[in-house]
Amino acid sequence: MKRIFSKFKGFIIDLDGVMYLDQKLLPFAKSFINFLNKNKKKYIFLTNDSSVSPYDYSIILRKLGIICSKEQVVTPISNFINIIKKGTIPKKNIMVFSSNKLKNFIRKENIDIITEANKFKDSNSILVSGHIDFNYKDLMYASLCVQNGASLYATSIDNSYPTKLGNVPATGSIIAAISKTFPAKVVNLGKPSKKIFALAIERLALDKSEILTIGDNLKTDIHGSNSAGIKSALVLTGKTTMTMAKKSKIKPDYIIKNLKI
Ligand SMILES: [Mg+2]
Repeated sequence: MKRIFSKFKGFIIDLDGVMYLDQKLLPFAKSFINFLNKNKKKYIFLTNDSSVSPYDYSIILRKLGIICSKEQVVTPISNFINIIKKGTIPKKNIMVFSSNKLKNFIRKENIDIITEANKFKDSNSILVSGHIDFNYKDLMYASLCVQNGASLYATSIDNSYPTKLGNVPATGSIIAAISKTFPAKVVNLGKPSKKIFALAIERLALDKSEILTIGDNLKTDIHGSNSAGIKSALVLTGKTTMTMAKKSKIKPDYIIKNLKI
């Protein structure tokens, strides 16, 4: 694959199914990242999984032996913070329905968030990110915010995610419950949204033509990359098989078995 990888100066790399699977590094992931560093290539890890902050991801990856800084990780939370910093969303009167870890991460970025649920009428925008302790009160107040005119931002619109027990509700299912309570327009902060790819491109500081996206998901990684005008490589170490890739209308520029150089 050296021939393909050598063509590009920067890489947007998905995590789950590309770098690791079930929290274990995939066979060629480490040597691929070492190859990028040795050849002075730039890279960003772009994931839709907002269960941990970009900072925590960089620590997890480093523990796995992957060279990575906080700035090299882009998640829907990075996208949300970036949108706020650019002034698209007012910096104040934001309510966040996420894990405490993520709330703390957002606060550290000097963003004021409303902490008292009964002040829902003050909110201009809300962020919803599913987590294991999400409860009825969260659902109730998130719905009340939306009814009072707050804009709804979601870290993903995926309805479920796979676990050892089976498929369980993801953020998209929570968003569906909010929209059933009160019809609302939702802004998806995750892949395939154009803004999250734009942020990854901005961090790489390269021309689009110099970048390759590597992902295992046709709907998020490949479709998002194609829409953003970036070349894409589907890697078959995650959720997509060759048969699925051949049947799909979404076409990557390259299909690779793994990250072997
Ligand atoms: Mg993936």
